Amino acid sequence: MTRTAIVLGAGMVGVSCALSLQKRGFAVTLIDRREPGRETSYGNAGVLARSSIVPLNNPGLFGKLTSYLGNRHPALNLNWKRALTRPGWLLRFLWEARPSQAAARIAALESLTASTVERHRALMAEAGVTHRLRETGTLKVWRTEAGHAAAKAEQDFLAAHGIVSQVLDRQGISGVEPALNPIFHAGLLCLENASVDSPGAVTQAYAELFARRGGAIVQARIEKLVHDGGAWQARTDKGAFEAEIAVVALGPWSMDLIAPLGLDSRLDVERGYHRHLRAKDGATLARPVYDVDAAYFMAPMEQGYRITSGVDLSHRDAPDEHRQIEAVTKSAREAFPLHEFDGETWRGARPTLPDSLPMIGEAPRNPGLWLAFGNQHLGFSTGPITGEIVAALICGETPPADPKPFAPGRYL
Ligand SMILES: Cc1cc2nc3c(=O)[nH]c(=O)nc-3n(C[C@H](O)[C@H](O)[C@H](O)COP(=O)(O)OP(=O)(O)OC[C@H]3O[C@@H](n4cnc5c(N)ncnc54)[C@H](O)[C@@H]3O)c2cc1C
Repeated sequence: MTRTAIVLGAGMVGVSCALSLQKRGFAVTLIDRREPGRETSYGNAGVLARSSIVPLNNPGLFGKLTSYLGNRHPALNLNWKRALTRPGWLLRFLWEARPSQAAARIAALESLTASTVERHRALMAEAGVTHRLRETGTLKVWRTEAGHAAAKAEQDFLAAHGIVSQVLDRQGISGVEPALNPIFHAGLLCLENASVDSPGAVTQAYAELFARRGGAIVQARIEKLVHDGGAWQARTDKGAFEAEIAVVALGPWSMDLIAPLGLDSRLDVERGYHRHLRAKDGATLARPVYDVDAAYFMAPMEQGYRITSGVDLSHRDAPDEHRQIEAVTKSAREAFPLHEFDGETWRGARPTLPDSLPMIGEAPRNPGLWLAFGNQHLGFSTGPITGEIVAALICGETPPADPKPFAPGRYL
């Protein structure tokens, strides 16, 4: 008999789970209130981040706390009122940054990022969108002399993890990105990363591949998730959808549906913004550039140059706070010839657990309910392997990465 699954949420994580289950013979229904890939999986920087193996809350964070907590650095905006009314998440986030936890968390992240480019390359070929993939790496740049030591230290760290990168001086930076203004002293080119020119379109293309292979996509707002008569049921504004297995992949909205089941996963969000700016005089970048001191990514996209901001720690649904995106728009215009910004500012929310590792696995006390969320800054990269881990565990296969660090039981 054909096994059935409903996957809740059609961002990169949900679409990947749907494809992986479908590959194993499941009849899958993928449900989202919007078209696939229109939320967080739309607005990110599109980086396939093989080299992002250090969680944001690492021991180095403590040295930066004074400027971060005083909201003096564009990397972080902290809404103090919210932090004080819900101190638990922030305290746990800082607690996880202690040195004794670093090696295990780095290894766990690396197990997810190691195959990211390879997995997306294969999926893009199957979905017919390889033209969106740029295998030109990413470039990190520093504005001060201190950047030379920082770039070298990062190169050594990555080399110890088998990731090749190249340290560049001012001349080297102009060699790889001639249109950047010569304000950077040091750079690190990581050719093992890749990027896409439209993460939303790539997610959509993967969903179309799922539909072409017989998967059902339903556009409906999920109102409730219930376990009824041995099956999981998603009750939506377009009726109820039922299956043996339910996978919750609702990104930053995952808590809305599982908290009523008594599952408080400690998920919170790190909000972020983007803007598209047009380049002047035909200037181009060959790859996403991360300006370390000014804390933004500038990524060439179908829509123009996408400038993405750092972390805004506030309530998911609170009004926009544009301090960071205003600052980084100015910094990006110093770095690269861009016209003035005249469009709309996008806001999204990275779904993050206190240990910066996703939650992947079956929910405790709820057989048949699977969780796949919390992919924080890396969910576009790590969606496909998340889907493979979920589907392998459901089918009793050996997953492609050790699932223990991601087990829901660590917080539930
Ligand atoms: C500014 C920024 C830059 C980033 N840059 C990168 C990057 O370069 N590389 C990278 O790998 N990652 C990046 N990320 C992180 C990445 O975008 C996320 O981790 C990833 O998109 C999360 O995917 P998801 O499928 O879990 O969530 P989402 O893409 O948000 O999908 C969740 C889906 O659930 C649906 N949904 C929610 N509630 C309901 C409901 N009640 N009923 C029906 N549907 C519902 C939503 O419509 C949505 O489609 C960035 C994030 C931000 C904000």
